Amino acid sequence: YGEFNQKIDYVFKVVLIGDSAVGKSQLLARYARNEFSLDSKATIGVEFQTRTLVIDHKTVKAQIWDTAGQERYRAVTSAYYRGAVGAMLVYDMTKRQSFDHVAKWLDELRSHADKNIVIMLVGNKSDLSTLRTVPIEDAKDFAQSESLFFMETSALEATNVESAFLTILTEIYRVVS
Ligand code: GDP
Ligand code: MG
Repeated sequence: YGEFNQKIDYVFKVVLIGDSAVGKSQLLARYARNEFSLDSKATIGVEFQTRTLVIDHKTVKAQIWDTAGQERYRAVTSAYYRGAVGAMLVYDMTKRQSFDHVAKWLDELRSHADKNIVIMLVGNKSDLSTLRTVPIEDAKDFAQSESLFFMETSALEATNVESAFLTILTEIYRVVS
């Protein structure tokens, strides 16, 4: 029997947030479908994708939400955050401004989301490390001071994408189970 008959033990809603063009949609495409596109259009309409995995012999359905391009207008609604047990806060390691905005995203997240939400800071586009403007130490220090998990990823090269999602989902499992 295939996935169709699978008994789901847990559904975890995880939201992707962060500035436009940092790679949120491509991280999701990589994780959910193992796809990547260099000319991805800004996402239209509220959207999530799912992936089912096994953690500690339990079947977990990860329901990962993408901002639908709302981040451009600072219009991410509270409905987006509702019920989320995890958040991936993404910046682009080649764009300092996207890292400088992380604190704002964190404020927004903490004012809308559940107080027990598990948060991971993600520095994406590690394949462009020659263009790096955010030192890894800055990100690590920030993550530590705010009690966030942290990882650098490349959606393009599929580096650490699996690992980042597995880490946050495992931590969510640890919190809720
Ligand atoms: P979003 O607005 O945060 O959803 O960003 P997108 O996922 O649409 O990505 C914005 C642009 O960055 C697109 O041209 C992607 O192809 C590109 N991109 C996303 N992830 C990576 C990555 O890991 N490395 C590189 N080099 N480009 C990426
Ligand atoms: Mg997008």
